[in-house]
Amino acid sequence: MYVYLKENNLQRSVSINGQDYNAVSITIYENNRFVGTLFIFQNITSILERERIQKRFIADASHELKTPVSAIKGMAEILNRPSFSDQETLVDFLKQIEIESKRMESVMNDMLNLSRYSSKNVLLDLSSFNLFDLVNEVKRSYSTLLKEKKLTFVNDVSSTLLIHADKDKFFHILSNLISNSIKSSDNGIIRIHSSITAFKLEILIKDEGIGIHQDEIPYIFDRYYRVDESRSRQTGGSGLGLAIVKAYVQAHLGQIEVSSELNKGSTFTLIFPISIVKNN
Ligand code: ADP
Repeated sequence: MYVYLKENNLQRSVSINGQDYNAVSITIYENNRFVGTLFIFQNITSILERERIQKRFIADASHELKTPVSAIKGMAEILNRPSFSDQETLVDFLKQIEIESKRMESVMNDMLNLSRYSSKNVLLDLSSFNLFDLVNEVKRSYSTLLKEKKLTFVNDVSSTLLIHADKDKFFHILSNLISNSIKSSDNGIIRIHSSITAFKLEILIKDEGIGIHQDEIPYIFDRYYRVDESRSRQTGGSGLGLAIVKAYVQAHLGQIEVSSELNKGSTFTLIFPISIVKNN
């Protein structure tokens, strides 16, 4: 109405039914007489979404990297003081600098994985592989940690189960869940088990660790959510692990569920359509 009354050109961003548009009106004259207005609506929802993802990624990156960067900077400043000569602190700081650098590396990797997912670019590189063997590969990568913590790892996956999925992403899913179980357990058994029904494949990762309070369960898959900030920082968690796991599971048309009891342990269940099983 405004453009008709004022006979003005206008450019404005508008939101209609959840879609964002760049609206432009151009007044049309014939022999110096206003005869009408041309409206152009350009749907810019996906452009704005991409911008939002980029901004969030930068904000997330700076937020997550601030802590380790300031820790490293602080220690480096102390080590560089001309008067510094304490050998014990030197060894301790160097160790901490290494831990913080590894933490930054893992946070960066997690964020890159998640940003790929956010931009809906999860391309699955599908192949057929033996799940039992893959679980053993993950187990091998944690063998030192399992030994250190005296944890028993049981691979109860059917040794003949072949699945058709993205092997790297499956490794990442299992590795994250097993790593969380190790971090949360001071003793006991970590068991991974598979079961097949007519419609689905279920993979269960069960530990006897500290468990998760019922009130926390709805949030653990949220980005940056950590049940215990200080414990997670110690264990090098970014709070992104389960968000990535969930994204990868969903990319395989699967679901992830968790049941847990404080001080008894947790069970993470991955549920996939039966079509993922190759030799069913
Ligand atoms: P992080 O990278 O910090 O480990 P995650 O997204 O993997 O973050 O996990 C989110 C939160 O869920 C963490 O604070 C962790 O303490 C909790 N959590 C995840 N798995 C388990 C588990 N098996 N037992 C107890 N707590 C868990």
